[in-house]
Amino acid sequence: MSELKLPTYEDVVAASQRIAGVAHKTPVLTSSTANAELGAEVYFKCENFQRMGAFKFRGGYNALAKFTPAQRKAGVVAFSSGNHAQAVALSARLLGIPATIVMPHDAPAAKVAATRGYGVQVVIYDRYTEDREQIGRELAAKHGLTLIPPYDHADVIAGQGTAAKELIEEVGRLDVVFAPLGGGGLLSGTALSTHALSPGAKVYGVEPEAGNDGQQSLRSGSIVHIDTPKTIADGAQTQHLGQLTFPIIQRDVTDILTASDEQLRAEMRFFGERMKIVIEPTSGLGLAAARAMKDQLQGKRVGIIVSGGNVDIARYAELLA
Ligand SMILES: *Cc1c(COP(=O)(O)O)cnc(C)c1O
Repeated sequence: MSELKLPTYEDVVAASQRIAGVAHKTPVLTSSTANAELGAEVYFKCENFQRMGAFKFRGGYNALAKFTPAQRKAGVVAFSSGNHAQAVALSARLLGIPATIVMPHDAPAAKVAATRGYGVQVVIYDRYTEDREQIGRELAAKHGLTLIPPYDHADVIAGQGTAAKELIEEVGRLDVVFAPLGGGGLLSGTALSTHALSPGAKVYGVEPEAGNDGQQSLRSGSIVHIDTPKTIADGAQTQHLGQLTFPIIQRDVTDILTASDEQLRAEMRFFGERMKIVIEPTSGLGLAAARAMKDQLQGKRVGIIVSGGNVDIARYAELLA
């Protein structure tokens, strides 16, 4: 196998220049209730306010902005449970690139509709019986499209790292950073930025309890594959870490923690009631883990990536009920 070139913090800096003026510089919010409950100074980087509603716009746009003229003309294909699809769809529209998106049959209706709304071709597959990566690769080969995977791609990782870069540049040095974990694009990018800008800070990834493949992988030293986990955290229903994300996580991440669906519902309620913001279930992972280890956070400066806010409003009400 050829040597894999891992993205670096320099790539995150280049990505931040590429997305400047196109992606939103999202707000960093604080909550005196959260500070009091955790005994820490907590800074929430609110990517639910990012374009298309999640941090994934950062990585998607960065990847597509680097296409050659020939790649732009032929088009892009992406497979995703939703947010990466919307990120690629919106980026493709902004850059004038034709896009095909492969989405699971049970993706939230709001995400499918939003993706179609960007004027791209949507191909639906069965999440539990078909292999989306294979479908994506076949479409790419047949039509000469460039496949942009949701996390295991250097330009995607570098783009996702710009959220933590902005966070630390705005609030200063942090002691601990928490990021939700699916395939590890967000976490590995977050780790690159945190190590560069706040050396010595601990970085934790947080995944749904029902799908702790990342935790198993970190502890066993090789990538563990699992069946698609059944969890309300649809942004983190991944089956394995990536060839690029795993080595960065092994090198730069302190540990991987988990949170239950019940904890995620409680965090959705917290963000809605206390902070007046709508988050999707996956976005509650960071705060849930921080609460669970609050004894170790006393007096610390803590960054939490709130990854997105895309949730059907009816589903949102059901989850809070
Ligand atoms: C994709 C996604 C994640 C997980 O990101 P990875 O890069 O796959 O680890 C977390 N939260 C939201 C809202 C997402 O869309």
